[in-house]
Amino acid sequence: MNLVWHRADLRLHDNPALSEALKAGPAVGLVVFDPNILQNTTPRRRAWFYQNVAALREGYMRRGGSLLVRTGLPWEVLPRVVGELGVKGVFAVRNSTPYARFRDRKVQEALPGRVRWLEGQYIHEPGSILKPDGGPYTVFTPFSKRWWAAQAPVLLEAPPRFPGTTLPPEYDLGTTPEEAPDIPLPPAGEEAALGALEVFLRDKLPHYHQTRDGLAGEGVSRLSYYFTLGVLSPRLAARRALEVGGEGARKWVNELCWRDFSGDLLYHRPQMLNSAFDPRWDDLPWNDDRDLFAAWLQGYTGIPVVDACMRELRATGFLSNRGRMVVAQFAVKLALLPWQQCERAFRDLLLDGDNASNLQGWHWAGGLGVDAAPYFRVFNLITQAETHDPGGAWLRRWVPESDGRPYPYKTPVLDLELARKRYLAAAEKIAKKAGAGISS
Ligand SMILES: Cc1cc2nc3c(=O)[nH]c(=O)nc-3n(C[C@H](O)[C@H](O)[C@H](O)COP(=O)(O)OP(=O)(O)OC[C@H]3O[C@@H](n4cnc5c(N)ncnc54)[C@H](O)[C@@H]3O)c2cc1C
Repeated sequence: MNLVWHRADLRLHDNPALSEALKAGPAVGLVVFDPNILQNTTPRRRAWFYQNVAALREGYMRRGGSLLVRTGLPWEVLPRVVGELGVKGVFAVRNSTPYARFRDRKVQEALPGRVRWLEGQYIHEPGSILKPDGGPYTVFTPFSKRWWAAQAPVLLEAPPRFPGTTLPPEYDLGTTPEEAPDIPLPPAGEEAALGALEVFLRDKLPHYHQTRDGLAGEGVSRLSYYFTLGVLSPRLAARRALEVGGEGARKWVNELCWRDFSGDLLYHRPQMLNSAFDPRWDDLPWNDDRDLFAAWLQGYTGIPVVDACMRELRATGFLSNRGRMVVAQFAVKLALLPWQQCERAFRDLLLDGDNASNLQGWHWAGGLGVDAAPYFRVFNLITQAETHDPGGAWLRRWVPESDGRPYPYKTPVLDLELARKRYLAAAEKIAKKAGAGISS
């Protein structure tokens, strides 16, 4: 018997761990509810995880297989299950966040020589796209050139059946908890994700390059919450988009390249969890103002575009990329709120919340040294709304007080012009002192 330990790969299609386990013989699946992850997140994100685990279990059962679930620390749970079932090999898709690497080292130590790690969370694994001199990239464009030139991964079919996986009838498969989310959740499971991918490819992909930037997030795939839990394979999604082809497809697959770039950045620089990618930016005059933080987080700053973003995020768990850039810029550059707290609170609200992509997004939008984003670019929040929500329908929906107009609907928590000048003055000093304004 072999064990497939599912983590951020809650799928049967294109799953290299599952495929290799089945080559080695009969296999059962396992999901561990790790308190180090689940106790530190929000009900909506736990509920989303549990629902996708339940859908995965149904997928196993329909094919005559079994998915076990257990609660506890993986380095304690896995040896127990291995002992109980006489497991020969454990197969898992590699994860590369700092906690995942710590966890997997401990599991490996507990089961020496028994675990095989496989690729599959990304299109190209963090650490695999390197500069000609062998070092990691810090700027997206050269990374993306190498990424596009790399050989596409071989895709794998979902197994039609799980042959010969008979567990003792009294063996407890475990129960997946149910948790009430505070928002309506999208349909869970890989069938829903694969269906949503096909609808996106048919209806939106051809125009994606022209429509992706709207604040309402109508021209985009909204597949991120499936990618984050690995319910949908990014490798399959990229392949399908490129089969459809065209400018929209190229642009969309390039966004999946941004996802890989994010994973790569965190893999090489785990310190970006707490400190600015370019540590010079840690010296900005951060303003730990609790009321300002609460106004930002709750969506009551008085600035329509910021409030619409945060209210939409709170109500749905999703926000467009443009909206994410707007609120992160506001928090970091204008409000000078400690970015680590904002990044964390923001991630807790996102259904797609992901360490690597969120950190990259906050660093990029906040000018903290990722990529070649210049520190001196500060969004005009009125123009952002006018350009990316022409007509104001999205603003009106989320901030009815604004009546769809981008101007403050009450005295804002910040004087935007003063805040911009304050930030630029501080940022220029830092940039001058260090001799450059952007990372390279
Ligand atoms: C401040 C900030 C925080 C962010 N936090 C997250 C996060 O926690 N989780 C997350 O998945 N994405 C995050 N992003 C990236 C991006 O905003 C979302 O992936 C995207 O908006 C999700 O919508 P979609 O699925 O419709 O994307 P699409 O436009 O359809 O793009 C397809 C896929 O490409 C990937 N992608 C797109 N844009 C980016 C990007 N800029 N960086 C990395 N991957 C990208 C996502 O997996 C996405 O599902 C963040 C961006 C910013 C600016």
